[in-house]
Amino acid sequence: MSALLPTYVRSGLSFARGEGAFLFTETGERYLDFSSGIAVTALGHAHPHLVEALTEQAKKVWHVSNLHHIAEQERLGERLCAATFADRVFFANSGAEAVEAAIKAARRYHFVNGAPERYRLVTFEGAFHGRTLATIAAGGQAKHLEGFGPPVDGFDQVSGFDIDAVEAAIGEETAGVLIEPIMGEGGMREVSYRFLQDLRALCDDKGVLLVLDEVQTGVGRTGRFYAHEWAGITPDIMASAKGLGGGFPVGACLTTEAVGQAMTPGSHGSTFGGNPLAMAVGNAVLDVVLAPGFLEGVAQMGLRLKQRLAGLADEHSDVIAEVRGQGLMIGLKCKVENLQLLAELRDRGMLSVQAGDNVVRLLPPLIVGEDEIDLACNTIDAACAALKTRA
Ligand SMILES: *Cc1c(COP(=O)(O)O)cnc(C)c1O
Repeated sequence: MSALLPTYVRSGLSFARGEGAFLFTETGERYLDFSSGIAVTALGHAHPHLVEALTEQAKKVWHVSNLHHIAEQERLGERLCAATFADRVFFANSGAEAVEAAIKAARRYHFVNGAPERYRLVTFEGAFHGRTLATIAAGGQAKHLEGFGPPVDGFDQVSGFDIDAVEAAIGEETAGVLIEPIMGEGGMREVSYRFLQDLRALCDDKGVLLVLDEVQTGVGRTGRFYAHEWAGITPDIMASAKGLGGGFPVGACLTTEAVGQAMTPGSHGSTFGGNPLAMAVGNAVLDVVLAPGFLEGVAQMGLRLKQRLAGLADEHSDVIAEVRGQGLMIGLKCKVENLQLLAELRDRGMLSVQAGDNVVRLLPPLIVGEDEIDLACNTIDAACAALKTRA
């Protein structure tokens, strides 16, 4: 019996080391990692620049708390602001914490601006925002809420991406609208640029805030630094995490100046958030992701992957119903059970991730090359063929 809480269903695989897009088990078997630890290891495994940043910082100082100035934190904050809509950043340790900070910031903005009654957020059916009490309420999924008492109050969920439904849900108590530009856990469901633009206009019209959860879509995953850039809009608040630390736990809540001003001294905090180790790695991730040409390369690899997958979906139309997503955040909507395809891929030395709506997620590291994309597609081809002969 394991000493761990039985909260996870695990594969049974145990990895000893990784290199680039590959992981190696204790017994030396190689796996092509198209999961990236659920969109986290954005630069693959053991990237030399990240290894160096972490080990160099480890020799200096690990942790001092936010009672003190942290130079690497100031630097990462400035760089994130320079590269995005944001003017201010709060550092946390996970996606859920980043979303929690975003929720608090949205409420607090209205509080300091004379509308304390505005504390509610409009959210979307099928969303995922994390596993804390507030973020499971925001996600609104019954399977995540069950057994944990009354959901945290303050979330009004609408179904579909229907701007009239959002408008109807916005009332006197609404602080903002919270949405993922692509629903990751929810099945790689893309939100149209048009809908994001309409949301931005509606939020402006109603005097409420647009809050984006870019925990999964951010840090280059879709081929832009943050996915909302594709739609040509900016949020008021944005949560980021997953790829931001390249495998080291880092979360961030980014805000405009107007929102950031509301988070006065003492209004929020984190003991570990933004510690020197995390910030050193975060800065190293940005060195690579923001280097000229890197994001264009991600977009190109994403197109190559999606094009080949479209061909495979035609060929194996009894297994793959649809190819979704953008950049290197791709979903295969399955006609067979998604876990079956996932298992066939794993049996052939390739890792992927399941998602809602019977989807298999492909989340390669952003440093993935043509050969690895071809290897992945050949593996998917073989897995689909095996599933067909079995059916
Ligand atoms: C993963 C994820 C989260 C939660 O992140 P954790 O680090 O697991 O807390 C929140 N929002 C989205 C969109 C995610 O994909």
